[in-house]
Amino acid sequence: MRPFGYVRAGDAGTAIALVRARPDSAFLAGGTTEVDLVRQDVLRPGLLVDINDLPLDLIEDLPDGGLRIGALARMSDVARAPGVMERFPVISQALVLGASAQLRNMASMGGNLCQRVRCSYFRDPASLCNKREPGSGCAALNGFHRGHAVLGTSDHCIATHPSDVAVPLTALDAVVHTSGPGGERAIGMDDFFLLPGDTPQREHPLEHGELITAIEVPGAPVARRSVYLKFRDRQSYEFALASVAAAVRIEDGTVAEVRLALGGVATRPWRARRAETALLGRPASAASFAAAAREELAQARPRPMNAFKVELAQRAIVRALSTLTDGEA
Ligand SMILES: Cc1cc2nc3c(=O)[nH]c(=O)nc-3n(C[C@H](O)[C@H](O)[C@H](O)COP(=O)(O)OP(=O)(O)OC[C@H]3O[C@@H](n4cnc5c(N)ncnc54)[C@H](O)[C@@H]3O)c2cc1C
Ligand code: SF4
Repeated sequence: MRPFGYVRAGDAGTAIALVRARPDSAFLAGGTTEVDLVRQDVLRPGLLVDINDLPLDLIEDLPDGGLRIGALARMSDVARAPGVMERFPVISQALVLGASAQLRNMASMGGNLCQRVRCSYFRDPASLCNKREPGSGCAALNGFHRGHAVLGTSDHCIATHPSDVAVPLTALDAVVHTSGPGGERAIGMDDFFLLPGDTPQREHPLEHGELITAIEVPGAPVARRSVYLKFRDRQSYEFALASVAAAVRIEDGTVAEVRLALGGVATRPWRARRAETALLGRPASAASFAAAAREELAQARPRPMNAFKVELAQRAIVRALSTLTDGEA
């Protein structure tokens, strides 16, 4: 590991100014992504600015029934917060199904949204990777890509977005609040995660030194009946091959409201809008669920090793919606 500087900031303004001052600096929260990548020589920061003393760890209920989650709230604290468990079970479940208990105690919500991809070529400095070294090539395209994305890919990168909790946050239209050199900003989930396109090194629209302060989830009564399902090679301590966050309201046997997002199959947390549109007003039946899932995955661009994800994601959607509507169809 190369030597780097370390400083602990006492307030947000100082943290932002310290990171802004050096292009090779970064914020350090729980360190569960950042320190791994420094050890692996993938990231080479000159200075890490520790933000753990900032008062950004509150989990608050909002008057509209929503949530405000501080960027430094730990995954484990958010997962067991009463307001999250009661009103947004899908968020709690996604958090509990991620990483391990020890990691969840360290890992922050802001860090979770900014975690880097798990593509093994990205994490191996000897491999070609456009995300690590723009313009160098993508070793995954013709390499081992069983875990890679089938949705939102480009000819420059096919890495899957790794976060679990970002999937329900996307389904529920959460908003990321930031503070930076240009003042404060609110960025909706649709704009927060960028498709790789021809700039896969840019994963979100944050400027250098822009600090995530909180994540707000608007009130959504539909989320009281919600579920997160995660399919992976082993049942713990593993990233998703496919996952789905679903919330649904049924009236008179038909779908009156639905939120759907996919994880593990796309280069960003994937809002399944085509499926949502196809479901509205349709009978709450396995046949409608399967038709909507097919509609969403029709835009998939599978490669030889990950073609199974198309079927897996469709089945995941059907399973989630059937679980939520059991007995109502
Ligand atoms: C073995 C292992 C298994 C895992 N499994 C899963 C899993 O199944 N599902 C899942 O979702 N995740 C998983 N993770 C990832 C884990 O959830 C993330 O590493 C963690 O959430 C990152 O949070 P952190 O506070 O440790 O961030 P850090 O490592 O401190 O930071 C990560 C990045 O975010 C930036 N950052 C941190 N806070 C802020 C902020 N407030 N504003 C702006 N930038 C910020 C940092 O500069 C850095 O670039 C796993 C990690 C490991 C090591
Ligand atoms: S898929 Fe993306 S992260 Fe992986 S090697 Fe290709 S460019 Fe790099």
